[in-house]
Amino acid sequence: MRVLLISTYELGHQPLNVARPAGALRDRGHDVRCLDLSIEPWDAELVTWADRVAFSVPMHTAMRVAREAITLVRDARPDLSIACFGLYGPVMADVADRALGGEADAALTGWIDGDDDDVVIHLGREAASGGARPARDLLPPIDQYARFAIHGEQRLAGYVEASHGCAHRCRHCPVPVVYDGRIRIVDLDAVIADTDQQVAAGARHLTFGDPDFLNGAHHSMRVVRALHERHPDLTFDCTVKVEHVLEHADLWPEIAASGCMFVVSAFESVDDATLARLDKGHTTADAGAAVELLRTHGIEVRPSWMPFTPWTTLGQIQALLDFVAEHDLVGNVDPVQYTIRLLLPEGSLLLGHPDLAPHLGEYDVKRSSYAWTSADPEMDALQAQLASLVESRLADGDDGVSIYEELRRACGLERLGLSVDAVTVAPRLTEPWFCCAEPTSEQLGVLIQSAM
Ligand code: SF4
Repeated sequence: MRVLLISTYELGHQPLNVARPAGALRDRGHDVRCLDLSIEPWDAELVTWADRVAFSVPMHTAMRVAREAITLVRDARPDLSIACFGLYGPVMADVADRALGGEADAALTGWIDGDDDDVVIHLGREAASGGARPARDLLPPIDQYARFAIHGEQRLAGYVEASHGCAHRCRHCPVPVVYDGRIRIVDLDAVIADTDQQVAAGARHLTFGDPDFLNGAHHSMRVVRALHERHPDLTFDCTVKVEHVLEHADLWPEIAASGCMFVVSAFESVDDATLARLDKGHTTADAGAAVELLRTHGIEVRPSWMPFTPWTTLGQIQALLDFVAEHDLVGNVDPVQYTIRLLLPEGSLLLGHPDLAPHLGEYDVKRSSYAWTSADPEMDALQAQLASLVESRLADGDDGVSIYEELRRACGLERLGLSVDAVTVAPRLTEPWFCCAEPTSEQLGVLIQSAM
């Protein structure tokens, strides 16, 4: 069977979610091609060539671009069967012939082999536990993807996952919609083998893309030890929730000594009532404590934020900007983070929350989210204003410090008089976008244009 696997966007790294099933399908004798629309132009000839097409949709933006690309496939080849797989696979059932979520690699293989099972969410352990080596050779090389940036230097970066899913159920998060509080461990040997091939391709830094790296702390530490022993100079970053940063305080000395350069952590808000509604499991004080704890081990936090929810007030936005300054995080926050607005995809655990009911609108198919309005309508206008400000300043090439100062002014706060030379930019990836955020019009436009 000639199989075309398409990735539309995977946060700037070489798409593991396509490479992994590509390896499995190739091992089974299929002729597999991959297309990454975040890097490569649309290729109509591949659509003509294919017997089956499957889109990887691991996040919201990927899903939105995939919806556009699927219309191209349907126009060219109405006869062609299309699958969508990944975290957002289940919400693609209206446009795909087969929608698959969770640990879907085996089900995807089955679909290509002609199996007519119609189960949507798969949580079997076999797919995550190892299997074929990801077929990274079928994708653009890693030097075309996001790099690790530190002290003005950029290094090639690889990407692996030690686990899938999450043991928690934060109400705004798409992960529990599919995994419902479960995690699936990726076999240690599989993580090592995939890391080895990326190091051989030039990677000097590794991103662990697990939704939360310390969900399975014992397994993650085995992975950290094994990789540090094999590749002592390899640095890495991972995503860890505030609660786990504090709960696993004893692990940070070893994690730091093994090469951890920064931790992404979903702080979301500095309003404790909002954090409770989202069931985040932390308070604003906890977030501050997490910053300090990690710093004692030389690890910087790159917080992700979701400032705009139906309950946001101007005072909360001001408090968030002040929190960033007070904790010396101006160089740690990508400006787009100050503009993120809550998404409510189908199945969101927030939909049943009584505090949301007065603000909830109709489902918007185009944006793949329920509409909602703020309790204070001026906050909807402020979000649009900040998003436009950040988008245009980034397009002009402005630095994060001056954008932060401009955001303070737009929110009615005094500027702090920070200069770009006085603020240290924390280690980071060159792709500034590490959560399931509503894409800016420019980001979405660029991706959709490439899909066309
Ligand atoms: S926000 Fe993070 S910790 Fe919460 S459910 Fe999602 S992945 Fe898990």
